[in-house]
Amino acid sequence: MKIHNFSAGPCILPQEVLQKAAESVVQFGDIGLSLIEISHRSAPFVEVMNNARSLVRSLLNVPEGYEILFLQGGASLGFYISAINVLKESGKAAYINTGTWSTKAIKEANLLGEIVEVASSKDKKFSYIPKDSEIPSGIDFLHYTSNNTISGTQFHEIPKTNAPLICDMSSDIFSKKVDVSKFDLIYAGAQKNMGPAGTTLYIVKKSLLGKTGRAIPSMLDLEVHIAKDSMFNTPPVFPIYVSMLTLEWLEKLGGVDAIEKINDAKAKLLYDEIDSNPNFRGLAAVEDRSKMNPTFELTDSSKKEAWDKLWNDNGISGISGHRSVGGYRASMYNAMPIESVQTLVDLMKKL
Ligand SMILES: *Cc1c(COP(=O)(O)O)cnc(C)c1O
Repeated sequence: MKIHNFSAGPCILPQEVLQKAAESVVQFGDIGLSLIEISHRSAPFVEVMNNARSLVRSLLNVPEGYEILFLQGGASLGFYISAINVLKESGKAAYINTGTWSTKAIKEANLLGEIVEVASSKDKKFSYIPKDSEIPSGIDFLHYTSNNTISGTQFHEIPKTNAPLICDMSSDIFSKKVDVSKFDLIYAGAQKNMGPAGTTLYIVKKSLLGKTGRAIPSMLDLEVHIAKDSMFNTPPVFPIYVSMLTLEWLEKLGGVDAIEKINDAKAKLLYDEIDSNPNFRGLAAVEDRSKMNPTFELTDSSKKEAWDKLWNDNGISGISGHRSVGGYRASMYNAMPIESVQTLVDLMKKL
């Protein structure tokens, strides 16, 4: 039976990528060695790193003046790295709190300076995106989470601010067009839409850095990593290679423009069913719904056993909601084919 992987992360990856990744572990190209046993400074791996970087640049139209890095520590370290590289000593920063991940980002930044929570949707269990936040003046940056992987909400517009803008794009990067020039720093853990866990992408405007007046440990210092082309220490070669393969796959498919259309179609298919099927209802405010992680629940909880058996028996994997939200969450990252969403929708119709 075909298994349809709706996991929220680590995510589904294209079959052809998994195949090539597997081969590279045994024998990388024609060099007679495995990818994971060669020097990260050898020509074959330096080429992988360069390819990965230039794919990010071309797929997202990253302008001049921005650097692209593949680091470690996940987006969870990105919370602190983004703050320590931009928040001035005795500085102030603004955060929009739209869920678990924003809350964690705020917690880390709080270790470094004054953090103003300019808007929050906590009052309604993070089921919506707060609009028109009042952004105070004199802040070093505004931070937000573009897609809330857990509650299933997504910013469909970039928040307006004159301050430098930092965004955790872990779960919707490469899923739709984005104007990188509006951002000063973007970070994203690979395992939601780009590759396996183990590397974190940073896209940073170089002119943003070097202004905090604080001592930054080397491993957290984006300027150190830029100077060393993401090879200050041994980079996570395998996750970077698999990310490169996924980005090549995306490029072949037609890039971000093409995948955005497919993602729109997948989201419409599932949300139309949620809205028209009396057995289900969505959990997020309609205008703020995530196209990556739709969340929904049963209207009649007595049907839970029947519904859980139906999808479990038919190859649907990973749609249990996050423990903090409950219900169901069907994550539909780039590599999920629309046929899998159709399979889920057909089962919803059968309940
Ligand atoms: C998964 C996720 C994180 C945490 O990522 P790690 O790589 O596990 O640290 C942070 N932010 C968002 C939006 C996420 O989806």
